[in-house]
Amino acid sequence: MPEAERRHLLVLGGTGEARALADDAVARLGQRLRVTTSLAGRTQRFAQPAGELRRGGFGGSAGLAAYLRRARIDFVIDATHPFAARISAAAGSACDSLGLPLLTLTRPRWKPQAGDRWFEVAGAAEAALLLPRLGRRAFLTIGSGEIEAFGALDDVHFLVRLIEPPPQPVPLRSHTLIFARGPFTEASERLTMTHHGVDVLVTKASGGAATAAKLAAARALGIPVIMLRRPEKGRGEMVERVEDALAWVERKLEKLQEIVT
Ligand code: NAP
Repeated sequence: MPEAERRHLLVLGGTGEARALADDAVARLGQRLRVTTSLAGRTQRFAQPAGELRRGGFGGSAGLAAYLRRARIDFVIDATHPFAARISAAAGSACDSLGLPLLTLTRPRWKPQAGDRWFEVAGAAEAALLLPRLGRRAFLTIGSGEIEAFGALDDVHFLVRLIEPPPQPVPLRSHTLIFARGPFTEASERLTMTHHGVDVLVTKASGGAATAAKLAAARALGIPVIMLRRPEKGRGEMVERVEDALAWVERKLEKLQEIVT
């Protein structure tokens, strides 16, 4: 198919699912489809998705709408992290304003099982209030953005797991930093928790399989979990599996083809 006739998909990324989607879309539909992945550009080390890549913010929903027009995007899949609410809101408004199809690829929610002791909180500030009642050695797995909410807890030691070294020093008095990127196994999570004497886990309710092993490890070790509630996000159609997102793209391509012929 001539280049000018190929349709153009924008994947809003920053997750393993987004990368898998870009890889599969290029492999299966690359003849008919250009695939561009957009990353916020926060991490320096990342696996390159198939297709084209752009990095950095758009400048809010107006900036995103301008980009969508300029890049001649035909449809958008928001495959950002469940806690990345601002970019999803911007995608909703920008696609609405241009009448572009938007799909949200999100992670299935975690459901508590027998033996789980989960404490759901609205955000990091509420987690910090509750934490001293549950433990003294906390495993923080919420990324680097909201750590300062725990800064006043002088009598808690924090094991902080990040993907890569943070831009600023961690604002905690007593802490150990470790760097790792999921997916993790239950055995490795148990080892991490026992090795560091963790007695409470703090996590975002991100859902999905890649980071669920820490919950199984906490259950097995009888460790309570403080879980930051997931924001509502995503407008319009929503799927939870990469293959369903791909099927959505195929349907959109077929529909556009019918209109042309
Ligand atoms: P956010 O609060 O929704 O977005 C903040 C700003 O970052 C957005 O307003 C946008 O800037 C820019 N941005 C975010 N995602 C982008 C993308 N895919 N492409 C281009 N610009 C993007 O998001 P966040 O929580 O900071 O997360 C940033 C990125 O890290 C996302 O891509 C997300 O998938 C990934 N991530 C987030 C988490 C998490 O816990 N939040 C965890 C793992 C990965 P402009 O307004 O200038 O367009």
